[in-house]
Amino acid sequence: MKERGSIVAEEYLQAIYSLQACGEPVKSIALSKWLKCSPSTVHATVSRLLRDKLVRIKKNKEICLTDQGFQKAESLMRRHRLVEQFLYRTLGISWHEVHQHAHVMEHGLTPLVEEKLAEFLEFPSSCPHGTPIPGNKNLIPKETKGLNEFQSDDRIQIIFIGESLEESLDLLKLLQEKSVLPGTHHLITEKTDITKTIVLQHENSSVTLPYDIAGKIGAIKC
Ligand SMILES: [Zn+2]
Ligand SMILES: [Zn+2]
Repeated sequence: MKERGSIVAEEYLQAIYSLQACGEPVKSIALSKWLKCSPSTVHATVSRLLRDKLVRIKKNKEICLTDQGFQKAESLMRRHRLVEQFLYRTLGISWHEVHQHAHVMEHGLTPLVEEKLAEFLEFPSSCPHGTPIPGNKNLIPKETKGLNEFQSDDRIQIIFIGESLEESLDLLKLLQEKSVLPGTHHLITEKTDITKTIVLQHENSSVTLPYDIAGKIGAIKC
């Protein structure tokens, strides 16, 4: 059984990895927002990660993963996404809920169980939200970009819902209800710079998304 401290460290590595994947500079304030904890707690844990050479801090206070930290984070994300697929495909847990359960379970997986799980699931290439599983062939098309970069009247296909959006159960539930799921096709009926919103239509339902959320959803033109 892992001690609480090492689980916390793993959660920090995953948070830094996910924030970096969004292209955001990772600073203490962003981490404390993401992990919902106080700046002093973040400071204490980041100091531990620094001591263990899992992160380094740039002159502008940006927190970066070292090669060792990156490898560790990647292996954690691989476990997280495999567990999500297992919960979704095998146990039938809802698409919008698997992330939070996987987040608890992933820390307890031994390398053997991870290997067997990947084999059982026939080596999936992504999590149920479309984000690639490290170590597999990346099937994300090169032309994928954020939904906010498309224009009115564009027809698009959703490729992935960014990991950072998985933290919000309500948002994922809404996306599921509106069929904003990997593989689905939508028409962009409106894009308004004044309100910074984009409207997607799929069959008879439509959904309005602010640019900051839309930017974390990857799509291609079709
Ligand atoms: Zn997730
Ligand atoms: Zn996922």
